[in-house]
Amino acid sequence: MTQKPFVIAIDGTAASGKGTLGKRLASHLGMVHLDTGLLYRYVGCKVLREVINIESVMNHNSPEAKFAGQVASKPISLEEIVRLDLSGEAVSKAASMVSAIPAVRAGLLEFQRNVASDPKGAVLDGRDIGTVVCPDAEAKFFITASVESRAERRFKQLQALGKQVIYGDILRELKDRDARDASRKLAPMMAAKDAFKLDTTHMNMDEVFEKVLSVVLSKRA
Ligand code: C5P
Repeated sequence: MTQKPFVIAIDGTAASGKGTLGKRLASHLGMVHLDTGLLYRYVGCKVLREVINIESVMNHNSPEAKFAGQVASKPISLEEIVRLDLSGEAVSKAASMVSAIPAVRAGLLEFQRNVASDPKGAVLDGRDIGTVVCPDAEAKFFITASVESRAERRFKQLQALGKQVIYGDILRELKDRDARDASRKLAPMMAAKDAFKLDTTHMNMDEVFEKVLSVVLSKRA
């Protein structure tokens, strides 16, 4: 009998370090990793290029929202995702806006579930992995940290990439995005009932990694 692949679902607030954690866990455990935020950022970026006012996608019947749904339902090239610069704040906001559109979430679901079915096992990070994308995941986490510490980490990351950024703008953008992601009707950001919750405000990346790894290993035993 073939064994079901082991899936690790990491959800949490914006800029809480989920992506870095997911990548490190996957590499340590020999699994594949998908930062699902990149898929929403990709759709947001494509829509930003085409529409005059990104706020129009808030009306899910608008041509702009329909366009976003079409982008999400076409095959996605990971090479293109890597080529595009998806790290900026305009793209973060656009991603969060398009992510509330039902056709966008539906369009991206199969891609995520395909990655999760990899025989090597998979680590997926996002907002709804433990609740919607992989509700049967063997290990689920919900990672957060104070919004100030997340803004500071994001500020340093973007500065290191050579971007001109203002701390106050990042703080405001994270607050707005968390509020929008948590309050949307469809697949809102929330911890699955069986998720291990971790507040990383006073932890460094190594401590977070060791803690999460120990929980994963206890589930794999
Ligand atoms: O994780 P990241 O901050 O890159 O995600 C960008 C945006 O994509 C989030 O603010 C959220 O609106 C959306 N997202 C989502 N569901 C996921 C991953 C990301 O709605 N599983």
